[in-house]
Amino acid sequence: MKNSIYIVGMGPGREEMMTAEAIHILEQSDVIVGYTLYLDLLSVRFKEKELLSTPMRQEKERCRLCFQEAEKGKRVALVCSGDAGIYGMASLMYELGKEYPEIELFVIAGITAASSGAAVLGAPLNHDFCVISLSDLLTPWERIEKRLNAAAEGDFVIVLYNPSSRKRKDYLMRACDILLRSIEGERVCGYVENIGRKGTKVETCKLKELREREVNMFTTVFIGSSGSEIINGKLITKRGYQ
Ligand code: SAH
Repeated sequence: MKNSIYIVGMGPGREEMMTAEAIHILEQSDVIVGYTLYLDLLSVRFKEKELLSTPMRQEKERCRLCFQEAEKGKRVALVCSGDAGIYGMASLMYELGKEYPEIELFVIAGITAASSGAAVLGAPLNHDFCVISLSDLLTPWERIEKRLNAAAEGDFVIVLYNPSSRKRKDYLMRACDILLRSIEGERVCGYVENIGRKGTKVETCKLKELREREVNMFTTVFIGSSGSEIINGKLITKRGYQ
């Protein structure tokens, strides 16, 4: 029988926000591999498991570790926050997996930050939306700028992942300035920090105000479409029912 690796999306943080399938897979595994922060979130419930991690930015090494452990015959789960197939490790695992044809990979879906953050804000994604990461670690900024322009042109609700980091403090402001060339400053927006974790913070504001806000890397940002509005403090996007 082929050895297997499960690539598990663990949702935004709290165990209640993991799927029953994800919990079941982790219970069945011998080794859980992940970025330190996510292993900390799991360490109480899964303390009897072998927990292995590599630091941030060592994604390839983390994936290789999974294959090495699976080759020893262990049942391996690689955990990612949210959904492993959305800015997670799933695709890199398939790329590296070409070198390990005897190991089978399975992706277990999780609740991505766009979905869990939307639930906190109200219903901002109730019509067409697109998701853009502001991280230019793996994508040139020119392409990010092109996608922001295209999203604004298409009147999508826009969800921004990776809106900031220590080295990219002004990226949200830069993104807002690009959007403000074609979207009015009064456009409604919202953002949620630490979704499903301690210290959840939710804010709504106008696009012209969003450019002044400081957010951290654990924040997901929502920019409304022309069909979005604030109702009783909640950010919603109408579907157009009469
Ligand atoms: N695979 C993850 C995304 C990883 S990219 C998912 O599907 O959710 C990292 C970005 O995701 C962060 O910069 C932030 O924008 C968003 N994010 C992930 N978890 C979050 C959380 N608990 N609260 C707020 N934003 C989160």
